[in-house]
Amino acid sequence: MTMKKPGPGDALLVVDVQNDFMPGGALGVKGGDEIIAPINRVIDRWISAGLPVFLTRDWHPAAHCSFAARGGPWPAHCVAGSPGAEFFPALHIPAQVGIVSKATRRSEEAYSAFHGTGLADRLRVAGIQRVFIAGLATDYCVRASTADAMRDGFKVAVLQDAVRAVDVTPGDGARALAEMRATGAEMISTDDLLAALGRGA
Ligand SMILES: [Zn+2]
Repeated sequence: MTMKKPGPGDALLVVDVQNDFMPGGALGVKGGDEIIAPINRVIDRWISAGLPVFLTRDWHPAAHCSFAARGGPWPAHCVAGSPGAEFFPALHIPAQVGIVSKATRRSEEAYSAFHGTGLADRLRVAGIQRVFIAGLATDYCVRASTADAMRDGFKVAVLQDAVRAVDVTPGDGARALAEMRATGAEMISTDDLLAALGRGA
């Protein structure tokens, strides 16, 4: 399948590539470091093509409701301003990227980059119609962001080799990908995307 060549109207959304989600981090995702190289290649080419890049980050208050200490499902992670919340140092962060901070309120969880962030409006103002999504984690924030993007009227393509899952239950990541595909998200590889970016109009 050949996809429409990326161009004006397309945005790249890189989800939660933060220290705490890297292997060894407070909520490390297995293989999370493996997606850095492909994501960086896409970011570089995307920026050279003059297309917008948004980086999301989990940006929690110290006593966030998702933390085990407050009865939530996760160990404390990505506390705003802490080293664990910083973007992974190897991630390419060009000056013109947009930053989207999410789940910033103490008593509200938000897996989706569209939940309470104003991102949909930012994308609409920028004339965006299609969003390419990569990052962490497949079965939580990538999945929720994909669902919300489609609900908000955007087309979505998931870079299926540039996401990794938490897999609390084995297979969660695969099921999330299947669900995204079934609900209308396109699945592409970074190689195919880079080839499409390099293709003539
Ligand atoms: Zn979180």
